[in-house]
Amino acid sequence: MYRAKRTVHDRPRPQAPQTAPIILTVYSLRDCGPDFRQQLLRTNCTKIDAVLFTHEHSDHTAGLDDLRPFYFRQGNLAVYAHKRVLDALKKRFEYIFETKNKYPGVLTLDTYTIENQSFFINNKKIIPVEVYHHKLPVFGFRIGNFAYITDAKTIAKEELDKLKNLDILIINALRIEPHLSHLNLEEAIAVIQQIRPKKAYLTHISHHMGFHDEVQATLPESIFLAYDQLEITL
Ligand SMILES: [Zn+2]
Ligand SMILES: [Zn+2]
Repeated sequence: MYRAKRTVHDRPRPQAPQTAPIILTVYSLRDCGPDFRQQLLRTNCTKIDAVLFTHEHSDHTAGLDDLRPFYFRQGNLAVYAHKRVLDALKKRFEYIFETKNKYPGVLTLDTYTIENQSFFINNKKIIPVEVYHHKLPVFGFRIGNFAYITDAKTIAKEELDKLKNLDILIINALRIEPHLSHLNLEEAIAVIQQIRPKKAYLTHISHHMGFHDEVQATLPESIFLAYDQLEITL
């Protein structure tokens, strides 16, 4: 059983841009956004089994160093990402990946390169779902009947086929207006209606979306705006 916590914004206040990670009770994370530390402090997360990166953009990676307290407690942390994403992390966080004369106590990671093929973490099958963020390939992930997709603009049919029979889908919806590299609200709803999960939560919401309750009132049944400290039990 997974319990996913997703922090997006406090309802019903105007929505703040938010892109921080999902935390599962197995304590796998997706991405480490800039406010990762604050997000973790609001959870009871004491152990992290793995971090799965969707892509290299800073709003998904800038909080990487905040894994350091977990490294102190647990030792090397497992990170799963596409080679392109790992290469970007190595450039941006050179001191973390230093192999000669590494400063003692710096976060140390065990990196695992993933392709668009399923893999296992602690006996949980993880199915990557490749979506396009304008021209950049980004991984969403399916675990059991739960799937998380962010920063998608287009999704090929064979990838949509991986998302059948979901209980919960989390997917990005940036704002009402169209955007070059992100689904807007209308497009996200259309994708959800194609996938037909039992429940969908919208994430990666910009403050341009509007007020929580006003936007929520316009959404079809079973589609919800995510918000800070939302907790989902699967
Ligand atoms: Zn992005
Ligand atoms: Zn993003």
